[in-house]
Amino acid sequence: METKRIPIYSILDDHEAVEEAAALLRAGGLVAIPTETVYGLAANAYDGQAVSKIFEAKGRPMDNPLIVHISEFDMLPDLVEDIPEEALELARLYWPGPLTIILQKSDKIPDQVSAGLPTVAVRMPANTVARGIIGACGFPLAAPSANRSGSPSPTTAAHVLQDMDGRIDGVVVSGNAQVGVESTVLSLAGLSEGKRPLLLRPGAVTPQMLRAAVGEIDIDPAVLRQLEDGRQAPSPGMKYKHYAPKAQVVLVEGDGEQYRNYVNRQAAPGVCALCFEEDGQGLSLPAVTYGRAADPDSEARALFDALRRLDEAGYVTAYAHAPAKDGVGLAVYNRLVRAAAFQVVRLAEEQEQGPAYGTQNSAGNGAGGEPGSKAGNVSGNGADGGSSGGPSKSSSREPSGGPSNGPGRGPENEPGNSSGKGSGDRPESKTGEEG
Ligand code: AMP
Ligand code: MG
Repeated sequence: METKRIPIYSILDDHEAVEEAAALLRAGGLVAIPTETVYGLAANAYDGQAVSKIFEAKGRPMDNPLIVHISEFDMLPDLVEDIPEEALELARLYWPGPLTIILQKSDKIPDQVSAGLPTVAVRMPANTVARGIIGACGFPLAAPSANRSGSPSPTTAAHVLQDMDGRIDGVVVSGNAQVGVESTVLSLAGLSEGKRPLLLRPGAVTPQMLRAAVGEIDIDPAVLRQLEDGRQAPSPGMKYKHYAPKAQVVLVEGDGEQYRNYVNRQAAPGVCALCFEEDGQGLSLPAVTYGRAADPDSEARALFDALRRLDEAGYVTAYAHAPAKDGVGLAVYNRLVRAAAFQVVRLAEEQEQGPAYGTQNSAGNGAGGEPGSKAGNVSGNGADGGSSGGPSKSSSREPSGGPSNGPGRGPENEPGNSSGKGSGDRPESKTGEEG
């Protein structure tokens, strides 16, 4: 199929193009649209058949639900069963913006969107082109990131075309994504059972900002660590390999000097440093930079483009300098550790390291943890500790399955909890690639 390029920079000046994109969507087509987080691959959220095409075009596992995008608050009541006070406050403070809220879904949401879950994820994007297109359609748009499943999310129209040219009906050509990482995902689905809001994916709306709106929140352990064996993913996307370039990425935690000393010892053909602009000096191997140290917004904006550039340059291995895990840095770390398939070399705080993943130490830490304060022990993954050899690899790089029986609190919104479906309904041992 021919993928139509549709330039839209202003919904006023380019209103005919907005109409063109809306017409493709009304006809049940797929159109990639800009949002402030990443480019999304949109279809009519009320049209299950159109939504199915998203999974096909991306190669996305069918059990990974989609976020529904709205252009105004009035679209929300049709999508959900009930709007709790907390959702109103979050919407008041952070919509439009990079925050997705999970609530119990209404009957209007097709199963393809929610992947059979009793809940639905909803967001009102800040990008005016995105909202203009949704408004012109008159229906909400289901839209995951517009990349082939598993590869880095697209932050430019050119990235979308790299992955999707010929596979979808149209691409809205607009500016670069201003945030650069996907939205924060917060589940409110457990509130009615007395559970706290649960952070499933960190983003530009930080844990601090969420607490300012709804009080204490829980942070799912999978935000920073590999899902432990046997634990069911509260957010299906968590169990998949994510954001991965073809190059093998190894995440290196340490200060600038520790990082430089370490990566300089790894210099070899095909090996590069994926680092902050400040790190570039004093490296004896080629560098691909992703923003500035201590400026997590710049890191978020640059990360996915940098991951794509690794492959364009043909690198085989990239040693990535890990960002600080607070504020937006938590979101950057979350994406990078997945791009690295959880291979982490920890040069700082070696003494506190735990053993490899999948052991009791990395499990059941309680969902209420503050990730920033656990830097030394949340992801002990057989770090190399600065010796001259390569980093040790996790013994199990991919999560494996079985029903949910992990220690600690159970996930809030797994299907078995509120839909009456057994947890065995969902294939847990499958390891696929996320969208
Ligand atoms: P993407 O659309 O590619 O940004 O991914 C959306 C993320 O939100 C994935 O990790 C999904 O698994 C997650 N998600 C979407 N809907 C739900 C839901 N109802 N419950 C839990 N997680 C969800
Ligand atoms: Mg995605």
